[in-house]
Amino acid sequence: MSPTNIPCPACASCDRTVPVSVAVLDRDAPLDPAVRAQLDVPREPKSLSPGSTVLFVLAGLQLLPLLMVAGGIGDADPTVRNFSLIATLFVLGLGIGFAVAGRLVLNAARERRRAQGGWPLSYEQWTLVHKVWRAAWLCRDCRVAFFPAWSLRPDFPASPALQLPHFQDWLTEISKQIDLAGGLAAPTP
Ligand SMILES: [Zn+2]
Repeated sequence: MSPTNIPCPACASCDRTVPVSVAVLDRDAPLDPAVRAQLDVPREPKSLSPGSTVLFVLAGLQLLPLLMVAGGIGDADPTVRNFSLIATLFVLGLGIGFAVAGRLVLNAARERRRAQGGWPLSYEQWTLVHKVWRAAWLCRDCRVAFFPAWSLRPDFPASPALQLPHFQDWLTEISKQIDLAGGLAAPTP
């Protein structure tokens, strides 16, 4: 790996510093599997609530039967008309019921995750964690990670040397701070 001009905060040398995103993919000088696992790209969160997804799909599936039964409301035969009206109201109620239930289940899942201190909660927040990960550097000699000055935001100073077993926790914490500070963009003067 060619030398860089980003010095390590622990040994002050630039000889063995490399972006984390480069180090984990480096086939010429592969990382120790344990180190690689500690530095790995943060996993995209699974759907927060698979149950709510099923309910939303069920709500959407009521659309076609709704169109079919609603077509009979204008029928000349009063029996067909009455049946169509009742069936339309029934299918409409079913669809709304599934949608409301899906929303409640999703809200409950978000609330549970928030109560457990879970973060990221949204896809945008996960994208932010991924961007922060891309800004991280590694010193192969000291086996520490760090964020160079201004690599995250113009007003964020260089980080100290971060111990690798805590790297993923650091990612979450730093991403939370950036999220609170208004994202990665420069603060407007
Ligand atoms: Zn170092």
